[in-house]
Amino acid sequence: MSPPDPGRPTPLARLIRERIAEAGPMPVAEYMALCLGHPEHGYYITRDPLGAKGDFVTAPEVSQLFGEMIGGWLAQVWIDAGRPQAILAEAGPGRGTLMADALRVAGRLPGFREAMALKLVETSPVLRSAQAAALGDWAPHWVERVADLPEGPLFLVANEFFDALPVRQFLRLAQGWQERVVVVGPEGLRFGYGPVMTSAALETRFGALPEGALVEVNPDGEAVAAEIGRRIASFGGVALIIDYGEWDGTGDTLQAVAGHRFADPLAAPGQADLTAHVRFRALAEASGLQPWGPVTQGVFLERLGITARARVLARTGGPAAAGVAAGHRRLTHPAEMGQVFKVMALTKPGAPAPPGFASGPMAGSME
Ligand code: SAH
Repeated sequence: MSPPDPGRPTPLARLIRERIAEAGPMPVAEYMALCLGHPEHGYYITRDPLGAKGDFVTAPEVSQLFGEMIGGWLAQVWIDAGRPQAILAEAGPGRGTLMADALRVAGRLPGFREAMALKLVETSPVLRSAQAAALGDWAPHWVERVADLPEGPLFLVANEFFDALPVRQFLRLAQGWQERVVVVGPEGLRFGYGPVMTSAALETRFGALPEGALVEVNPDGEAVAAEIGRRIASFGGVALIIDYGEWDGTGDTLQAVAGHRFADPLAAPGQADLTAHVRFRALAEASGLQPWGPVTQGVFLERLGITARARVLARTGGPAAAGVAAGHRRLTHPAEMGQVFKVMALTKPGAPAPPGFASGPMAGSME
């Protein structure tokens, strides 16, 4: 995808300006939701951001090692759960690569294929067709939202899904809070702040923060986590959430990426990816489940045996061997994806630690 031309407003920019002219300043979450999901011009609706000419690369697209480790993990948690008939779901499956690599491994386990109904939570028509091509053998079904999944034991994976859900941003003042909004300035869209307001919910969560602090809330992400929590608490199963972010944290993390570079989030609405860091604590609390980790992706993959698998793959020769060492490094090295990305599992309270997790969160610190 060629980088957007900063000089010309995108079709979505024109539409957003009109909306602001009519309805007033637009909260950041609404802006982000339109940029990513507008039915005609939304970033994920119009393109495959992960393809050969895409804007960014995710862990499963780096190396098959990633999905294979998740496949081994899924096989183990399914055995530990007593091999139930269950729903195997992925939220935001991208090109279907993670699940295809995972199922190549887990599918070797007798009974796994018969027990699992594969469900993909995806809004993008472009990516749904990529997923159909990658996963056709598994006869997947698609749903729009986690809430639309059938009821039953749930084994759910989400890699770089929660970071794509819109965040609201609030600025802490001595006398209350201001929501960060998008307004129209003389040179196009720019950020501003809405009126000062009071909020019991924000006070409870962030009241100890000093004046000037900026906080982010991910209401859709918390609703998804609550839905996952309700299902796992009622029917059993486990969720595995992988994303960049922290257990807790404050500050503006809204970022745009286009053509593998950081971009101005307001420059080309609908033509750059927009994300925000995931605050794992908020998701864990919304789910009501027992959190495990977060551990760093590098540590998690090492514990699952990625190095041994990489050695085997490298020895086999052929196409699978090429780039194994580079892929292993990219996924696990602290200076690459190994440290920024975190992995959290959610289980019923009292369940044993899933593979790769030694303990629950130590208030605010990483294992
Ligand atoms: N997990 C994949 C793709 C990450 S990109 C990978 O690791 O490669 C984010 C994914 O979430 C895409 O598949 C995107 O279409 C999907 N997505 C974004 N917002 C969504 C929403 N609100 N509901 C469902 N899927 C969404």
